[in-house]
Amino acid sequence: MNEYKVILPEAEIPTHWYNIVADLPTPPAPPLNPATDQPLQPADLAPLFPMGLIEQEASAERWIPIPDEVRDIYKLWRPSPMYRAYRLEQALGTTAQIYYKYEGASPVGSHKANSSLPQAYFNMKEGRTRLTTETGAGQWGAALAFAAQIFGLQCDIWQVRNTFEGKPYRHAQMEVFGAHAVASPSELTDVGRKLREQFPDTPGSLGMAISEAVEAAVKDPNASYSLGSVLNHVLLHQTVIGQEALKQLEYFGVAKLDYLYACAGGGSNLGGIAFPFIRENLEGRQDVKIVACEPNAAPSLTKGEFRYDFGDTAGMTPKLKMYTLGQDFVPDPVHAGGLRYHGMAPLVSHCYHEGYLSAIAIRQREAFAAGVLFSRAEGIIPASESNHAIAGAIRQAKLATEEGTSPVILIGVSGSGQLDLPAYTEFLNGEMADS
Ligand SMILES: *Cc1c(COP(=O)(O)O)cnc(C)c1O
Repeated sequence: MNEYKVILPEAEIPTHWYNIVADLPTPPAPPLNPATDQPLQPADLAPLFPMGLIEQEASAERWIPIPDEVRDIYKLWRPSPMYRAYRLEQALGTTAQIYYKYEGASPVGSHKANSSLPQAYFNMKEGRTRLTTETGAGQWGAALAFAAQIFGLQCDIWQVRNTFEGKPYRHAQMEVFGAHAVASPSELTDVGRKLREQFPDTPGSLGMAISEAVEAAVKDPNASYSLGSVLNHVLLHQTVIGQEALKQLEYFGVAKLDYLYACAGGGSNLGGIAFPFIRENLEGRQDVKIVACEPNAAPSLTKGEFRYDFGDTAGMTPKLKMYTLGQDFVPDPVHAGGLRYHGMAPLVSHCYHEGYLSAIAIRQREAFAAGVLFSRAEGIIPASESNHAIAGAIRQAKLATEEGTSPVILIGVSGSGQLDLPAYTEFLNGEMADS
């Protein structure tokens, strides 16, 4: 039995991605073609994505093989480590057992590389030479820039203006990896020019940046668009996290997990860690309570409506059935940039609607207080997004202590906070606002 950490050998990197669609008792609602309101056909997506990814998007196969070329690059940092947070437990004086799975040790500092690499790979395989994308805080942009570099693709990134200006290191990171990044809305696209005319002072939003990157991809036959979250194939790629976590808990001697906390922006790290556990629940092996932790500034699950909506501001994407705050929603510029999205992944939305997971909203000061406590105990400074998951878990650990129970809690720590240090300083100086 392991005490502090389980680091699996490379041979234990999953060989397949897990597709939860195969195990859902009721099928999720299909995406719609916005022109006809009919279910989307694979050919409708061909201007945006390579066939390899479109097939994954629509697949109902349970296990989808990870190409050797992708699995080889996963070896740079996978399997990611799992830790028992003894020192956090001590700091809290809790009766709960707390574990965390850490995705911040990836080359770009977050879970996003789990999907950027296969996305770049399938594009390269089908002869596309250029990728366009949006990025909020910059983690997805950096992850795709790295993956594009690995597979020899050009990469153009529209970054939400507010973080482009407020987080210059992320922009530098993308350029070090050889990508080109601009602030969105930009002058480079029709939709960007229109948005700038309409809202000259806008801080930008993920919805706007998606519209720009989609337009750029549609206009260039050699280009594909890449999305860092929300879509089925992105969540699929992230399931390496949950599959590894199941094995690691076994090495720790934990047969049954009680709670799983993950932060939720578009839903990819949550889906990635949670779906293999939902499978355990559906097959009666475990009874894990899964809790999505969203920011109070963009509470799509806890305050949104479950309906068809566009994935972007301009209405260029297919319509997705999801919990949404509306395509026009521009969240307050909180620090957890990666969580500021108006909608939630259709698969996560479906699981929430069916009761397979619950959700809570957390304000940013509570999130950062949790992040500081975690950092001081564990020595890892978490990403501002991940702090929401840690805050949720700490609420549960405190409750358990009051009730005198000792549940086993797993936290998905989706990334490293090294580039979020200015936000930590703001918090420590008492200058951080709560939305
Ligand atoms: C992008 C990001 C998120 C939010 O995206 P999801 O798709 O909800 O996972 C969370 N944490 C980190 C570190 C991120 O980079």
